Formats: sequence, structure tokens, C-alpha cells
Amino acid sequence: MDGGGGGLKPMDSEQLREYGHQMVDFVADYYKNIENYPVLSQVEPGYLVKLLPDAAPNQPESLQRVLDDVQSKILPGVTHWQSPNFYAYYPANSSVAGFLGEILSAGINMVGFSWITSPAATELEMIVLDWLGKLLKLPQEFLSSGHGGGVIQGSASEAVLVVLLAARDKTLRMVGKSALGKLVVYGSDQTHSALQKACQIAGIHPENCRLLKTDSSTDYALSPEIVSEAISHDISIGLIPFFLCGTVGTTSSATVDPLYSLAKIAKSNGMWFHVDAAYAGSACICPEYRKYLDGVEEADSFNMNAHKWFLTNFDCSALWVKDRNALIQSLSTNPEFLKNKASQANLVVDYKDWQIPLGRRFRFSLYTLGSKKFMIPYKEWLVIET
Ligand code: PLP
Repeated sequence: MDGGGGGLKPMDSEQLREYGHQMVDFVADYYKNIENYPVLSQVEPGYLVKLLPDAAPNQPESLQRVLDDVQSKILPGVTHWQSPNFYAYYPANSSVAGFLGEILSAGINMVGFSWITSPAATELEMIVLDWLGKLLKLPQEFLSSGHGGGVIQGSASEAVLVVLLAARDKTLRMVGKSALGKLVVYGSDQTHSALQKACQIAGIHPENCRLLKTDSSTDYALSPEIVSEAISHDISIGLIPFFLCGTVGTTSSATVDPLYSLAKIAKSNGMWFHVDAAYAGSACICPEYRKYLDGVEEADSFNMNAHKWFLTNFDCSALWVKDRNALIQSLSTNPEFLKNKASQANLVVDYKDWQIPLGRRFRFSLYTLGSKKFMIPYKEWLVIET
């Protein structure tokens, strides 16, 4: 993009200010007119290659020309998830507060994989996830003051993968690494396919991923009796049940699995119990919906996608665990170039050890939402103060 000075110089602060205003105006106009766009993009596959040159331009262009291209060539290929007329898949609503937070994230561009790489990134994430955990009335063990804590993952799929890895390794430490082929995972035929994918990545044999049948007699919730029977049968043939996934708000029908009973079964068989509330979890902050989380007290991990129903920009999936060391034991690496005093002295949380990638972005979009300016607790949550 042409910085305006004619040459290929980086933009200075004044140009950033000017172009930033122009960009915000563009987004503000987009929101103003969003209802005029067809919600579902009407383009045919391959439409864009016909509209763009086949090599990157050699000369910079003005921001106005770039925005004109976005308007005429890109917006027709957008499916408008933020439109009030969007009813597909699941809610994925951001908010003005979230958008403003994203500007901060992009502008400051912290990469907080270790505490030392930006102490504020780690500490603010811990504090805000504790706040969110308290709003959801999660048990104390999920908060950072004890052995647990919260961490932002990109997606619910990553959340279930990291806890599955933690549970797998915890079990293998007890029964020996050679038992990998005997490990069994349980969910229902309504559990999100993220569980199956996590099993594939974690090396769980495909035939040991049990997606137990549900039907209308339980409103498609997982039946504790069926789970118990499956576990007993697997134990009787020498297999090792180690992971059970319950869902609060299944993707197809928003069914809630019976968390208490499932947790009891998991506990009595020494299994990890994960609760996937990716879609519906945000609603449980409202006192009248909190009952759907009853039983989460007994779970080992809990996840909800703030980017689905919590007015936060994609991607922001909140995961809490009771035993952070289980995650760290599975995911930690400590190469020479990442060593630093605070980490070596075990004084800090290094989120690199709670997730798959090393690098991680900072998500102001969640934190601006937490600000009273934007989010008034409970009833008036959906009102963004202006
Ligand atoms: N679990 C449930 C219940 C979901 O509804 C979804 C997404 O629709 C997922 C998991 C997967 O979420 P993500 O796209 O964040 O991996």
C-alpha cells in the first residue's frame, strides 16, 4: 500500500492515524449496511482468480484503491456471519467492543508464549479467565489460585486435543507406554467430531474411539447406563478406558449430557472427564441457565468458545483444567533459546506449555468485553454502552 509519500517508506504515526480512521470508517459503513448484503455469498467457485492479477503488484496502491477492491471484489465473496439475518451453523457474534479490542491486539501485536515475552499478556489472561470462571461458577479448582487454571485456545478442537493428550500421557505414565493401543475414549454419536479428530492426532486407535448411540428417549443425551456397560465390556477384554467427553449443548440439538452421572462413572474408573460446552457454555453465565453446568464440579476440564456466543471475535476458546501439571507434562518443551530466569525459577505460567503451538496471539477482544464500559453484568450484557 502506498504510504502517501510516493516512495516505499513505512507509514509514520500520522499516516497510521489517517489510514486508521479510514479503515474504521470502512468497517463502520460495513456494519451500517450489513443488512443489504445477501447473507450467503452468491459467487461461484473460483470467482476471485478472475478478478485479481496473477502476480503480486510491483507498485504500491493507495488505501482507497485497496478498500475499493475489498468493496467490489472481496465483499461479494463474503458470507456475512455478523448479519442479523445469519442463522446458519451456530452464533458467532462479535461486537463493537470485541472489534475495538482486536485493533489493540493487532496494533500492539504481543506474542506472549512465555511470561517473559510479555508479562501482561500472561497475567491478564490468567486474571480474566479467573473472572470468567467465577461468572460461570466453576469450582475453585479450575481457577489459577490452586493447581488448575484457564487458558485461551484457538478452538474447541484444540482444547479437546490438549486435554486428551494430557489424559493419555497421565494414563500411560501409570500403565506403560506400550499400552497406547489399549486406550479407549468415550463420547456419544452427538459429540462434536473434534473428539474423533483429537483421537486421530493423539494416536488412539480408531476402533477405540466409542461414539455411543443416543436416541430420542434421552433427547439424544448420553446414557450413563450405556457408558457404564461399554466401559465394563472394554475392561473385561483387557482394554483401558481413560477419557470420557460430555457435552453441554450438542451441535445438532443443544442437548445436555448428564454431567454428574458421567463424572461419577469417569471417576470410579480413573478416567479424565472433559466437558465440551463450546457452543452453549456462554449462556450458562446467566443464573437461569447455570443449572445446565451442574456436575462440572466433578469434571477434569471444561471448555467454552467465547467466539461463539460471547460477543468476542474469532478465535477465542476458553479452557479450564483442574490439574495444569497434567497439561504441562504433556506439552512442555524447554529448549535453550527459551530459557529465562522467571521460568527456570518456576515463578510464572508459560502458556506455551498449555497448547500446541509455541507462538500465540493476544486477544484484547475478550478483555475489552470484560470491561464494565462495554459489558454490564448479566441482564444487560447484550447492551454495549456507547
Ligand atoms: N464442540 C461443539 C459442541 C461445537 O458446537 C463445536 C463447533 O461447532 C465444536 C466443538 C468445535 O469448535 P471449534 O470450531 O472451536 O473447534
